[in-house]
Amino acid sequence: MALNPSDLIRPEVLSLKAYHVADASGMIKLDAMENPYPLPDDLRDLAAGLAHQTPLNRYPDPQAAQLRRAIRQHMAVPEGAQILFGNGSDEIIQLIAMAVARPGATLLAPEPSFAMYRMIATFCGMRYVGVPLKENFSLDPDEMVLRIEQYEPAVVFIAYPNNPTGTLFDLEAMMRVVNAAPGLVVVDEAYHAFAGSSFMGELPRHRNLLVMRTLSKLGLAGLRLGFVAGAPQWLGEIEKLRLPYNINSLTQAIATRLIDNVGRLNEQAAAIVTARTQLARALVDLPDLRIWQSHANFILFRVPNGPRTFERLKRRGVLIKNLHGAHPMLDNCLRVTVGTPDENVAFLKALRDSLA
Ligand SMILES: *Cc1c(COP(=O)(O)O)cnc(C)c1O
Repeated sequence: MALNPSDLIRPEVLSLKAYHVADASGMIKLDAMENPYPLPDDLRDLAAGLAHQTPLNRYPDPQAAQLRRAIRQHMAVPEGAQILFGNGSDEIIQLIAMAVARPGATLLAPEPSFAMYRMIATFCGMRYVGVPLKENFSLDPDEMVLRIEQYEPAVVFIAYPNNPTGTLFDLEAMMRVVNAAPGLVVVDEAYHAFAGSSFMGELPRHRNLLVMRTLSKLGLAGLRLGFVAGAPQWLGEIEKLRLPYNINSLTQAIATRLIDNVGRLNEQAAAIVTARTQLARALVDLPDLRIWQSHANFILFRVPNGPRTFERLKRRGVLIKNLHGAHPMLDNCLRVTVGTPDENVAFLKALRDSLA
């Protein structure tokens, strides 16, 4: 009997496009919000020593106890909040969605935002509802509350600051959403290091709130470590879906000691914020270009012809992100990750040439 994939694979999976990662070999890579700086030499030596000592014949600690202690100590997780680890925060989004994906359950998020919210809702068989941001990419609290009342979402995801717009949503608007939501609200603080504002301190006051962070944008994208903090009543349930060894031994050992030195990573983040200000100033001076103020390590901007400028940049050896076609509000928009000062200069030169 000949079996076709379409006989077996769920239709919503058949209609998905695989997450596309562009080939960046030989390019100045400003497409994925990575920290452009390598780890300082002494921390690399520390990581190498830890790799040497780690018994790779043994399974990792399923509780990641030492890592948990380091996160509690250095990431201002309130007393009483529990911590759940993911292989990147992408995995945590998936765990949360899997936990609440009853038939007909809804995942709601503002749009445009992080593409994985919609993708993961689809994987898990959830209904996805996107609520448009205002024209200036601020959160629209009236519309959010209206849609929350209409769809009663099991979970609302809000990236704070938002990707790909860089916007840090208004606190009062955020609180209206938290208070209106009948289910979970996950504040995704992937860009916390560049923003200087957090919902972590709100956890004790809001039982339906979860705050998610990742080490990826802080310079450790290759380690794959994210965590979410919130009430044990929720995270104790979601924890049951976590595969026991999702955080490997090397990641546990190295992340623990690097978090003990998080000040060093935050110094790099501060340098990136300074470079962001300089880059934004240079972009504002370019004709026919609109930029949005960013609180993250990237800048969203609009040019007269986004796809053309993107291709011209690529031909000049600079890879950024083309968002044209990703969402109607992102027509002709491009997103550049803040690089080193040298990379930013090279990008700006290539951009001027590409726009000419
Ligand atoms: C990059 C990003 C993540 C995913 O980070 P990982 O921890 O690397 O999986 C999550 N949320 C937002 C908004 C992001 O931009």
